[in-house]
Amino acid sequence: LVSRLRPYTTTIFAEMSALASRTGSINLGQGFPDTDGPPSVLAAARQAIADGINQYPPGPGIPELRQAIAFARERDYGQVFDPDTEVLVTVGATEALAASVLGLIEPGAEVLLIEPHYDSYPPIVAMAGGRHRSVPLRPDAGGRFALDVDEVAAAIGPATRMLIVNSPHNPTGTVLDATELAGLARLAVEHDLVVVTDEVYEYLTFDGVPHLPLATFEGMAERTLTISSSGKSFSTTGWKIGWVCGPAPLVAAVRAAKQFLTYVGGAPFQPAVAHALRHEMPWVADLRGSLQGKRDRLCAGLAAAGFGVGRPQGTYFVMTDIRPLGATDGMQFCLDLPARAGVVAIPDEVFHDDPADGTPFVRFAFCKRDEVIDEAVQRLAGMP
Ligand code: PMP
Ligand code: GLN
Repeated sequence: LVSRLRPYTTTIFAEMSALASRTGSINLGQGFPDTDGPPSVLAAARQAIADGINQYPPGPGIPELRQAIAFARERDYGQVFDPDTEVLVTVGATEALAASVLGLIEPGAEVLLIEPHYDSYPPIVAMAGGRHRSVPLRPDAGGRFALDVDEVAAAIGPATRMLIVNSPHNPTGTVLDATELAGLARLAVEHDLVVVTDEVYEYLTFDGVPHLPLATFEGMAERTLTISSSGKSFSTTGWKIGWVCGPAPLVAAVRAAKQFLTYVGGAPFQPAVAHALRHEMPWVADLRGSLQGKRDRLCAGLAAAGFGVGRPQGTYFVMTDIRPLGATDGMQFCLDLPARAGVVAIPDEVFHDDPADGTPFVRFAFCKRDEVIDEAVQRLAGMP
């Protein structure tokens, strides 16, 4: 294995899901729902297969889906994109992120991340020959992981070219607010950075907290690549239909990389996701409401079991502090959890450059049926 990938040999999600099946544990680790997406969307994919939409779609994605993506961005946020030059369909948000970095980062250039960071960001920067530097979110008195824009400013150096921002944020559940985003926008403009936003949880925010796309802030439209995917919004994580929207020159750079990574993907899923974006937002609103209830259910159960529990504003994850349980090493805690309680979770340390930074935190997913959450909570409460 090449040296640049040696620090990244296995993804924690595969490791922990394998541990869950090996031990028969309840999997609150890897984030995927245990119920299906909207029936009309599933039917549209079946119909597309029956209709023979089974060969390579066009490189940038089928026009119908690109138009639906542009339509949805304008409907939901007032962002305007030309579906022909400013929207690219990818194999999940994962490929959109990878192709954005590969298409825009020269060897040696620096990419700024916010920590804890989703596990694919550092390896894709490494694959591009770039370097990354991370700025931490820090828990405030109320348990919200907040961003200090001054710390971001201090981390920007002469080689910094790109900033990757994930909000709603996995794993903390933070939804960046207008002040934090305006601060990032100001820095991006001042330092002429390209900004990549990972908005895969854009529709999964709670208590009326709004998701604000960073590209809508002043000076940002011309420098931002906005990424999302159907996986979280429509509970179709296995379809791997994602997209990236932005100014034509930036999208062209992403397309140049994307065409030689996968060329295209998911022909019959593309018309189904187009249908979803246009017609199934009421279903998404129901999903959001249901997830808010699941958040409350899991948070209450974890608190009763003795965990320190934050209150995620979005995503379907909750970050917990294991110190009230007398534990400090999240990785060891997660490795022991199947035997102790028959539950699998994700240690926060995998989202950090220095594992010690995340040590006492553990992430649980609540995108599961209520009876699964209840059973997990009961097991955790009875844990020796
Ligand atoms: N970014 C974040 C923050 C995620 O949690 C995930 C997992 N869904 C992805 C990107 C990858 O998305 P996709 O499955 O569409 O590739
Ligand atoms: N995004 C999901 C999570 O954070 C997992 C995706 C994956 O397995 N790569 O749990």
